[in-house]
Amino acid sequence: MRPILASISLSALAHNLGVARARAKHSRIFAVIKANGYGHGLLNVADGLKDADGFAILSIDEATKLREAGYLHPILLLEGVFSSDEWLQVSQLHLTAVVHSFKQIDSLERTPLKHPLSVFLKMNTGMNRLGFRPEEVQEVINRLSHLPMVKDIVLMTHFATADDSRGIDQQMGVFKAISQKLPYKTSLANSAAILRHPTSHGDWVRAGIMLYGSSPFEDETASSMGLKPVMRLTSKIIATQTLNPGESAGYGFQFTANKTTRIGVVACGYADGYPRHAPNGTPVAVNGIRTQIIGRVSMDMLFVDITSIPEADIDSEVELWGNLISIDEVAKSSGTIGYELMCAISSRVSMQVV
Ligand SMILES: *Cc1c(COP(=O)(O)O)cnc(C)c1O
Repeated sequence: MRPILASISLSALAHNLGVARARAKHSRIFAVIKANGYGHGLLNVADGLKDADGFAILSIDEATKLREAGYLHPILLLEGVFSSDEWLQVSQLHLTAVVHSFKQIDSLERTPLKHPLSVFLKMNTGMNRLGFRPEEVQEVINRLSHLPMVKDIVLMTHFATADDSRGIDQQMGVFKAISQKLPYKTSLANSAAILRHPTSHGDWVRAGIMLYGSSPFEDETASSMGLKPVMRLTSKIIATQTLNPGESAGYGFQFTANKTTRIGVVACGYADGYPRHAPNGTPVAVNGIRTQIIGRVSMDMLFVDITSIPEADIDSEVELWGNLISIDEVAKSSGTIGYELMCAISSRVSMQVV
């Protein structure tokens, strides 16, 4: 069997949920498990995060899988319905839907539902992605509160810069000006706001990236915040080569040895989800020892420098990211973020729950 493997730690998920709880003591927590649980497997992460107060996802399909697996938690559809016929499924599956557009309200008004439902009214407080503008909110509430099948409204918004120095003050100001006058519960905070902006916690926080043990910040590591990596991506060396000075390796001869260099060829490439743009020097661990990748990442393989690890050979274990190498280090070196790397793990990578 090709040796690439993603090991998913359920205890790390539960631990990271505990960190979110400790930070947002007075809020309930939606565990955001969209995008196949940020690439970790929807049902794997639901299991590890079953103590969350609810799950947040994007599609009826994901919700169906969770209900079929027996989860009775509140389930929030973060983009609401995509077509009017989905309201019936929302009701049948006892889901909670974001409402962000007048089109969604039009179709809700026209659909006779079996069970009353809660809706999250999404306000656009400045990010200008989804939601109603502040001046539209009163009209939306008038319409929603006239619907007998809407049993509950929660006011929601999403921050654009909770992870950087601009913070959330401006959007909080817009949100509060509306929410303070209304008797509804609130939901604002993603991981960055949970960790840095306690005034935003409200009634329901929406924790995503932190639960997977990756940092939403450029200037603070996951481990320094007490988060544990959930995914460990490993493979093995399947061949070794020794390059004489002046010899090159891989596509484009992107790496040329300036001294005698021993390299390992690893069964992991961009078709597995490893970033193709990872440059020479991106950290990796072989037999538990940190070293670096060299040369261009190809579809199915990449190269590691094992000059200083003489015991490394065919079958030596390689950690692409996990406990020794944080996913955020690999992401930074490759010009991206941990979120993108985890979501990009491809279906040909076997997953093992540990
Ligand atoms: C994905 C998402 C989150 C989670 O964000 P993280 O940065 O991963 O914590 C929260 N809220 C909404 C609306 C989202 O789409």
